[in-house]
Amino acid sequence: MDTNKQIQPIKTSCEFSGPAQLWIGTTQKLIDHAHSFMQQRWCVHGGCTRCTPCKLIEQHQFHGALWVQPDGNYSRDDLDIIFRTLQFALDENREMIIVIQRADYLTASCYNSLLKSIEEPPRGYHFLLLAERLDAVAPTIRSRCTITHFTPQYTDITQHPLAKFFINCHYENPSSFLQALDSVDPDEHMTAELIDSLLRYWLGEYKKSAVERNASKLTTIESIVNTIQQALEEPPMAGSSKLFWKNLFIQIKA
Ligand SMILES: [Zn+2]
Repeated sequence: MDTNKQIQPIKTSCEFSGPAQLWIGTTQKLIDHAHSFMQQRWCVHGGCTRCTPCKLIEQHQFHGALWVQPDGNYSRDDLDIIFRTLQFALDENREMIIVIQRADYLTASCYNSLLKSIEEPPRGYHFLLLAERLDAVAPTIRSRCTITHFTPQYTDITQHPLAKFFINCHYENPSSFLQALDSVDPDEHMTAELIDSLLRYWLGEYKKSAVERNASKLTTIESIVNTIQQALEEPPMAGSSKLFWKNLFIQIKA
């Protein structure tokens, strides 16, 4: 996992940078961004959120947007509406955004059937794919999309409000840790990413101390690395991330 990813600013532009966009982030956040993207693009007041088009956009009733969402995994039937829609040529000044929600749940036969349309949609059509996890989206889809992350990605793990407790070994104030935990409110994906970054950080520190031949530091770091690795044997499931972090805090403190 790359810990040096750039923080990408939230796009305020309502322009498309290619025929297909892939947005990564939490489901609700992505839907909110899609609404405001369309409102800015189509509302004559620049996205007032109050006029009829703005309201229709939020209700997924606006004629310029087709929202597709599966129950569970996608089946080919869920995509039929896309292919039927694409058969209609749009008038010169009209456009339509096809929103594929939960693109990380497209099965292989589904994304294969979509590739050509995504790569070269008929005039006026745009694809917007939403997914929580980039690594769960098929590489063939990813390579055809402009990717934007709407999840905060930290270029520096030592500055992360939650991770910094485990970097600075600040265990004397559990209440401030719990506050940070509440405000970050990590899910299992963010937790996996943070734990991975923490482990890399401490393995790096271990190497440095080994070069310095600092025996006491090495022992301390070894114990931290062991605790993190033990915690990783039981990674959090959906809904249990906070408990995971609390347990890690208690174990590492001991
Ligand atoms: Zn409006």
